[in-house]
Amino acid sequence: MRVLLVEDDPTLRAQLRTGLEEAGHVVDEADNGRDGHHLGATEAFDTVILDLGLPVLDGLSVLRRWREAGLTVPVLILTARDSWHEKVAGIDAGADDYLAKPFHMEELLARVRALIRRSQGLASPLLQCGAVALDTRSGRVAVNGQPVTLTSHEFRLLSYLMHRPGTVVSRTELTEHLYAQDFDRDSNTIEVFIGRLRRKLPPELIETVRGMGYRLAAPS
Ligand code: CA
Repeated sequence: MRVLLVEDDPTLRAQLRTGLEEAGHVVDEADNGRDGHHLGATEAFDTVILDLGLPVLDGLSVLRRWREAGLTVPVLILTARDSWHEKVAGIDAGADDYLAKPFHMEELLARVRALIRRSQGLASPLLQCGAVALDTRSGRVAVNGQPVTLTSHEFRLLSYLMHRPGTVVSRTELTEHLYAQDFDRDSNTIEVFIGRLRRKLPPELIETVRGMGYRLAAPS
């Protein structure tokens, strides 16, 4: 999944980026509120991690502007320790969750997983589609209980589709959500990865919807 990280502390930002990338996400980052606001308003993300204390434009203003513009992306705010009023203001401004500094990376990753699946109406961290199971906590994929080894690209693509069973997803949408902004995006590579997934998984799992994109066969 693609995550926007807006945090001005370079050490924390680097730690968060590493943790998110190790968990299989792609990350775009900004070190101030103005750039963060612009990225969130113009690019497609699956979740946003937003520090509230930011230079140029504070996090609460960023969040309010996004919500006023109708942006529904899940937002996790980072607040100062013991600052209950920041949490209240953040939730009232449209935050979906919060985490007070300092926090453990594992907790942040669990909250990000929950935000992403809840934004798709999914309650369980174990995603199942026919014979295929994807555990969002461990990043493991199995077919009929037998583990399948996927590359990080293949996993991201499958995870995106498995969060949206039965929905047609265009190649443009996949390209936007599977690569960071600075990546050389080419929607033809999506086709290559779909082909690889079809060889590793039951071939009927991913349908091609001509002229529109791909759809994960909803389990009957
Ligand atoms: Ca800060």
